[in-house]
Amino acid sequence: MANFDLAIIGAGMAGASLAAEVGGHLRVLLLEAEEMPGYHTTGRSAAFWEECYGGPEIVPLSRASEAYLRDGGFLSPRGALYIGRSEDRAKLDAFEARFADSGARFERLPSAAAQAHVPSLRAEWSEAIWQPHCADIDVAGLHQHYLKAASAAGVELVTRARIESIEREGDGWRLRSADGREWRVGALANASGAWADQIAELAGARPLSIQPLQRTMLQVRADPPLPRTGPLTLDISGAFYFKPESANAMWFSPHDETPVPPSDAAPEELAVAQALDIFAQVLDAEPVKLERTWAGLRSFAPDRKPVIGWDARAPGFFWFAGQGGFGIQTAPAAARLAGQVLRDAQRDEMTLALDAERFSPARFG
Ligand SMILES: Cc1cc2nc3c(=O)[nH]c(=O)nc-3n(C[C@H](O)[C@H](O)[C@H](O)COP(=O)(O)OP(=O)(O)OC[C@H]3O[C@@H](n4cnc5c(N)ncnc54)[C@H](O)[C@@H]3O)c2cc1C
Repeated sequence: MANFDLAIIGAGMAGASLAAEVGGHLRVLLLEAEEMPGYHTTGRSAAFWEECYGGPEIVPLSRASEAYLRDGGFLSPRGALYIGRSEDRAKLDAFEARFADSGARFERLPSAAAQAHVPSLRAEWSEAIWQPHCADIDVAGLHQHYLKAASAAGVELVTRARIESIEREGDGWRLRSADGREWRVGALANASGAWADQIAELAGARPLSIQPLQRTMLQVRADPPLPRTGPLTLDISGAFYFKPESANAMWFSPHDETPVPPSDAAPEELAVAQALDIFAQVLDAEPVKLERTWAGLRSFAPDRKPVIGWDARAPGFFWFAGQGGFGIQTAPAAARLAGQVLRDAQRDEMTLALDAERFSPARFG
């Protein structure tokens, strides 16, 4: 039985990025239930960096991650539009007020200017806020980058290792996988996404009500297609978003949030039908072919902020969970902060302005 300082459970974006951050300092074991790390939520995202996404409390994490993502070549500029109808003007005003001091960069467009960005947008969607800095993220590239960095730092990745037993052993833990392999580790980091509460229960820690919410995505071939370099377009009321994916196809989501137990999420027919209904209300285009549909789980703590820090009641149990709908775009700063909190290490330029207390599990009492 091998000994490690730290086992990270889950090798999605959260676990991989944390492993890369702490690998050079600790003997780290990265355990993943699936054959392929990234099979669950990380591999199912809409792949954008949109600085207001997740609300003003998430903006600092997204902004702090920007330079790392840009310098690493993981961002492709796209721009984003929040749109509404004339009756939604108050919602656009409220958005501007809510994010005014957040550090996010945006501007209100004159009425009917949105159609210059999205020519097939129906005329009633006349109101818009423009975010020039929104970009696509190369999610697979970023995930691989972190897995490679972790490996180079000596982290041992073990796949097909579904942890089903976690027991106290001395000051540390003894872990057992479904196929009977065992590891002895000093500490445990819970980066298991939708399974975060289940892992806490296995370890005898108090679950934090981290709820997986299912979201549906469609890849649609539309006639006319969106301009290839067109923006990510989001409803100010939160009922849809879409963006071009290739010359002819686009990604479209009805922005659904259905509470479900952790699972290998699959799209519901009803959610796909609802998405196509919304498509018709928003775009003057024919959805000529539904090329692909998928669903993923966005997992949120009750206050929709990530949970980063040691569990005060379960010594040696570290939370890195609740990344919700922003776990890719915040990964660099969130993982850097998590690594520093975990090792009780000095902050650096990336994390200096972040308030770790806001993300601590201690906020749940
Ligand atoms: C449709 C959709 C669109 C999204 N769009 C965006 C976006 O545009 N931008 C953005 O920033 N974010 C987006 N997100 C959110 C983002 O994808 C997530 O926040 C992020 O992927 C979460 O990463 P994770 O590592 O926590 O979870 P996961 O990728 O799910 O990783 C958790 C891992 O833990 C493993 N695991 C669980 N239990 C065990 C166990 N017992 N033993 C061993 N391993 C275990 C699982 O197998 C899994 O691989 C989107 C999400 C969805 C669903």
